[in-house]
Amino acid sequence: MKPALLVIDILNDFVKGPLKTREAEVIINPAKTTINTFRKKGYPVFYINDSHYKEDFEIELWGPHAMKNSRGAKVYEELEPYDSDYIIEKHTYSGFFETPLDYLLRTLRIDTVFLIGLDADICVRHTAADAFFRGYKVYVVRDAVASRIDKNWEEYFSKAYNAKIINSFELEEYL
Ligand SMILES: [Zn+2]
Repeated sequence: MKPALLVIDILNDFVKGPLKTREAEVIINPAKTTINTFRKKGYPVFYINDSHYKEDFEIELWGPHAMKNSRGAKVYEELEPYDSDYIIEKHTYSGFFETPLDYLLRTLRIDTVFLIGLDADICVRHTAADAFFRGYKVYVVRDAVASRIDKNWEEYFSKAYNAKIINSFELEEYL
């Protein structure tokens, strides 16, 4: 297995700003543990961040959030990326949609993606779907994601994407 970690939308606007949820802050510590474990093992860490133009079509649905170059679009400060991490800017839910993510993963010969971030049932879910379509094995770290609408997301992920759902404290067993 050649894994990469995808850290999805752990941005100020999703943790403390207009799109925050009650559960979002709870994921910060498990996310930190997960990111540190990947760094320690020398596996690549990708930050996949909303960075919206006002023209992006989903702004009509959600209102302005994570606008390009704004404070709200910055990674939540406790989880700040290292210079060695990859930063991918996206314009809607999936980290694969019109971004260089698949190109970079293939260049690095990655075959497995571990997903953490916000929201489990929106941006994490659509990134998981696109990863599945492209032949990547998908893992989700349960305590490092929070959902917004679909509290039953785990069953959907495992049945539709053959995803494996694990906890941050057992991550090392899988790497
Ligand atoms: Zn967005």
